[in-house]
Amino acid sequence: MRLSQFHLHTTKETPSDAELTSHRLMLRAGMIRKLASGLYIWSPLGLRVLRKVERIVREEMERAGAVEFQIPTIQPKELWETTGRWEKFGPQLLKIKDRKEQVFCYSPTAEEAAADFARQELSSYKQLPVNFFQIQSKFRDEIRPRFGVMRAREFLMKDAYSFHLHDECLVREYENMKSAYSRIFTRLGLDFRMVQADSGAIGGDASQEFHVIADSGEDALVFSTGSDYAANQEAAVAAAPGPRPAASEARRLVETPTQKTCEAVAALLGLGLERTVKSIAIMSEGGFVLALVRGDHDVNEIKLGKVAGLQGYRMASEAEIAAHLGSEPGFLGPLDPVLPIRIVADRDVAAMADFVIGANQAGRHIAGVNWGRDLPEPGTPGTDVADIRNAKEGDRAADGGQLKIARGIEVGHVFQLGRQYAQALNATVLDENGKAAVLAMGCYGIGISRIVAAAIEQNHDDAGIIWPEAMAPWQVVVCVINPKQDESVSAAAAGLLAELQAAGLDAALDDRGLRPGAMFADMELIGVPHRVVVSERGLAAGTFEYRSRRASEAESLDRQALLGRLT
Ligand code: ATP
Ligand code: MG
Ligand code: MG
Ligand code: MG
Repeated sequence: MRLSQFHLHTTKETPSDAELTSHRLMLRAGMIRKLASGLYIWSPLGLRVLRKVERIVREEMERAGAVEFQIPTIQPKELWETTGRWEKFGPQLLKIKDRKEQVFCYSPTAEEAAADFARQELSSYKQLPVNFFQIQSKFRDEIRPRFGVMRAREFLMKDAYSFHLHDECLVREYENMKSAYSRIFTRLGLDFRMVQADSGAIGGDASQEFHVIADSGEDALVFSTGSDYAANQEAAVAAAPGPRPAASEARRLVETPTQKTCEAVAALLGLGLERTVKSIAIMSEGGFVLALVRGDHDVNEIKLGKVAGLQGYRMASEAEIAAHLGSEPGFLGPLDPVLPIRIVADRDVAAMADFVIGANQAGRHIAGVNWGRDLPEPGTPGTDVADIRNAKEGDRAADGGQLKIARGIEVGHVFQLGRQYAQALNATVLDENGKAAVLAMGCYGIGISRIVAAAIEQNHDDAGIIWPEAMAPWQVVVCVINPKQDESVSAAAAGLLAELQAAGLDAALDDRGLRPGAMFADMELIGVPHRVVVSERGLAAGTFEYRSRRASEAESLDRQALLGRLT
């Protein structure tokens, strides 16, 4: 690969509309360009990285015994109605009409279609178990697409669907997929953690998520140092005792708040009581308390405050809020009933603060229930593990560990779905006794495109991206100083490139003829793990200048030492 024939287009300027490091660096490196909100074009450079992730995922899925298939992205409404998800999926589902007025959606996930395939393909228990996977675009009309490909509307997902006669077999495949996922994230060179999760809209029984650990992650993870207990915030909260309104109850409270709640919150937010506050929803997002206030003249006001300790609230500036939510000022628009309303308090302020904090009566916060409260720094000693136990199952053994909280980016999610989808689609096989049996099903997702951004969140410095070896666009780039001036330098560089490639390295030649400073800055920005410089002076001394992306200094190495280092 010669970079003079490739298309690299880097920029020095920091894009103003991107607050997350990975988004900024992907734009500056020229990996992606925005087409529209939540829609990105992958440049040749970006695509090289995406394909590396895809290849590792495909290899490990195949190693784990899954077989690849492909489902259309456009799917008929009738299919989605069989499971009730046409309605249930809500506004995230993009609906489309064809010229005959037939209604379709762009697949946000594909359980229905996979179960439909199973219904047509599988007739006997002898064909089981089987696990089908695809690597295919998905579309979700996210309420707040942000952070570039991290939370896009169209994104690339690996989704797999397994089919079984017996529950035990489903559990075995679920464990098999968890091991495959661990191998995938290990090979990608990421610092990750598996946590208990809520199964959410997809439904089913057991569910676990894989998170890349990063302070910028949208999810809070709760784990113990004394055992393998680890859960995401929703799962920890869902299992926690204490007052927590069900979603339906929460909605009722938003729609019909008492006068007392309205006044209390209005006072708290400094709205002034001369206004009529008609409804209020309070929710917490990563340390911010967000109040949606529907006032008179049907004007919706949005106020956010940041909880300062347990004592009270500090109003956050609009810029701070926008930065936190990853949006531009004016981001929320009109009060939207589908916003994730997480906490609604119908009490006086004191009780509400208590409730929002999620403190138990002893004043300690229950596992993960730190709604509205700043997350402690990772590693801060937290509540003792008895609290997690209470919050989790009664029967969990004391492990003597400490509760820790970290932030994570969800990159994978596995579910034991059970029989609900197969039942709805009438996907059955004949069992050992020749009787029809509904298939048990598992599903397993990986956010291929999100992994690219997540890896950058975890691996970067001031100069740019630092790719883990397996994801880098090239493992090594041979940089030629003055390629046009000196034939012998170009020839030596081409020779070295061929040698590195023969040794199995994904190597490229930077023969663009840039000044050394500009060329090196590009290599650092795009995150190439190893850089070799071929210059007239080096050749005369019989050396190449080598620098690892993570090292602060370059070293002079002869050919033998260089090959030893790289291969
Ligand atoms: P999130 O909680 O981040 O919204 P999710 O739980 O809705 O994700 P799943 O339905 O579990 O997502 O989908 C499987 C995987 O697809 C996720 O683990 C994530 O890596 C990826 N993914 C989901 N939504 C997006 C998105 N909008 N942009 C990029 N990747 C996504
Ligand atoms: Mg989602
Ligand atoms: Mg999720
Ligand atoms: Mg998920």
